Amino acid sequence: MTRKRIVVKIGSSLLTDQKRLTPRWAFMQRIMEDISLLREQGYDILLCSSGSVALGMKMMGVDPENAGLRDKQASAACGMPLLLNAYKQIGHEYDLNIAQILVTLGDFEIHSRFLNTKNTLQRLLQAGVIPIINENDTITTEEIRVGDNDRLAAKVAQMVLAEHLIILTSVDGLYDKDPSDPEAKLVEEVQDVSQYLSVTEGVSALGSGGMLTKLQAANMAQNSGCHTIIANGETDNPIASALFGEHPRTICLAHSEPLATWHSWLSERLHVAGSIVVKNEAADAVEKEERGIQREDVINIEGPYVKGDVIHIYDENGTERARGMSDFTSEETEILVRNLDIPVKQLLGYHSRAVLVELGNLTTLDERHLPWEQPEPVKQTKIEPFPDETAN
Ligand code: GLU
Repeated sequence: MTRKRIVVKIGSSLLTDQKRLTPRWAFMQRIMEDISLLREQGYDILLCSSGSVALGMKMMGVDPENAGLRDKQASAACGMPLLLNAYKQIGHEYDLNIAQILVTLGDFEIHSRFLNTKNTLQRLLQAGVIPIINENDTITTEEIRVGDNDRLAAKVAQMVLAEHLIILTSVDGLYDKDPSDPEAKLVEEVQDVSQYLSVTEGVSALGSGGMLTKLQAANMAQNSGCHTIIANGETDNPIASALFGEHPRTICLAHSEPLATWHSWLSERLHVAGSIVVKNEAADAVEKEERGIQREDVINIEGPYVKGDVIHIYDENGTERARGMSDFTSEETEILVRNLDIPVKQLLGYHSRAVLVELGNLTTLDERHLPWEQPEPVKQTKIEPFPDETAN
């Protein structure tokens, strides 16, 4: 029997007693019992568990309202063993073995590290161990952190080719209006998450939210062929009842034609290093899968990025048309683009094809992708060759 994979994300508010900042043992018991039952039914579960920061605050003598970055980083260091200890103790009752995986942005965004993390997760699953994954908050700073466990869990789902991502939270799912509005209705099924972005923005602003990152996570998951269920965790068998629809919930359906693994890695990003603007005909050619990006195509470069980074590819109208892995740094790209008539070896000192992004390392973006959070401005200053250097 092929085992099915489910990634379950559990938020801090479910795991910790907000007043005493201690683990909610009874809730965690329900989770572990549920995992044990689902394992018997052929499901492998990976947990993305929050809670380390909240649980460590007591030891650090800080409270959630006025904790600064250092306080939170130190609290995560104190809270992580408490969290894992609780899982370990409860797991023992159900004969479940657990393992801790702490990740940072690079473990998803750098392909070699992505594969490394994936292989470790596969090995743990093979041995019947439950991976408990969290961000390594103690060492992460703004530039290298994912920031929320919703999108982190979606990346894990993409990594292990999970069939379901279940996001357990303290509301029943996504509402079509601010949930405090008596007219608000639960949305049971979502195909296109972009329809609900404006609603979630409103909800977040009122402080009852966190729904925006959940929908972003759902979009990443659905593009990679994974269904996302957003459900209330305050119930018996929280995971199974969400999975089998025993309570109201929201399901964001996977696309029927998901992206291939490599294309999904290229497009479902948490961070994009830089961008280039290319002529419209080049963007069209990429879309038709005719060719990669050549140096003649480039109008503008926004760096810095390094070889192997994934970059946005915009057309002249400012529409993001593709994402791809660059074969050159942004500095090298600029030198190549400004000196079209000079061979690569002469400009960079090593021999290489003058293709900036190979066709095989490009993925086009269609309407199913949510727009990037902070669109890069498309500069109007076009790159022109240096007259002196091209003259000889
Ligand atoms: N990594 C954080 C923690 O363990 C939680 C982040 C989140 O819930 O999105 O407390």
